[in-house]
Amino acid sequence: MKLTVVGCSGSFPSAESACSSYLVEADGFRLLLDMGNGALGELQRHCGLYDLDAIFLSHLHADHCIDMCAYFVARYYRHDGGRCAPIPVYGPEGTEHRLTTAYADTPSASSMSEVFDFHTVKPSTFDVGPFTVHTERVAHPVEAYGIRVEHGGRSLTYSGDTGLSPALEELARDTDFFLCEAAFTHGKENIPDLHLNGREAGETASRAGARRLVLTHIPPWTDPQINLADARAAYDGPVELAAPRVTYEI
Ligand SMILES: [Zn+2]
Ligand SMILES: [Zn+2]
Repeated sequence: MKLTVVGCSGSFPSAESACSSYLVEADGFRLLLDMGNGALGELQRHCGLYDLDAIFLSHLHADHCIDMCAYFVARYYRHDGGRCAPIPVYGPEGTEHRLTTAYADTPSASSMSEVFDFHTVKPSTFDVGPFTVHTERVAHPVEAYGIRVEHGGRSLTYSGDTGLSPALEELARDTDFFLCEAAFTHGKENIPDLHLNGREAGETASRAGARRLVLTHIPPWTDPQINLADARAAYDGPVELAAPRVTYEI
């Protein structure tokens, strides 16, 4: 599996990075995890506008899904006059309505479904192209999912947005690559069931037996080095900060 960080800024874009979006590729299949603010532009550095095969939306906060409105334009109003065939979009209950409402004036209430084939995510296991995917509900104010993507005996686990979550810990059990949010800073912000801090991300990775930890979703107003040091203090394995345009072979 190849993972490319399209965007990793938390809550709002930074000068350096779009919001959450991660491209996972294997066997020529491209699965995008989240499409937050600015992601559609960045994505075009890594693949063609119409090269995605499926999209997973962890939850419906704007910093994880709002560029789907822009992507609707690109797929629905193609400059060559055609219209893109629908690709699978996996998201929480109400994804189509959320995106249609955010767009505000789609030609009809069902226009989004002409270019996106919406599937409602529940905690489950299913196949997406060559990947086996496991989803679990995590701890966030809205319905939110973590996802584990498996291919060729390797696994990638992405937390989405979450506070401390036993379900996330199980999802990340012995995972090869744990892409975990660390939006809060230990000792500074502490709101239950919203975000993890660096220490909690490290502790979760440690308890899960994850083999590698990459911290993501750190907002521009947070010092990432503090969160990195906090995670390192709680986790013995390799840990680093996500950065846009970095690619990993998993
Ligand atoms: Zn977020
Ligand atoms: Zn969120």
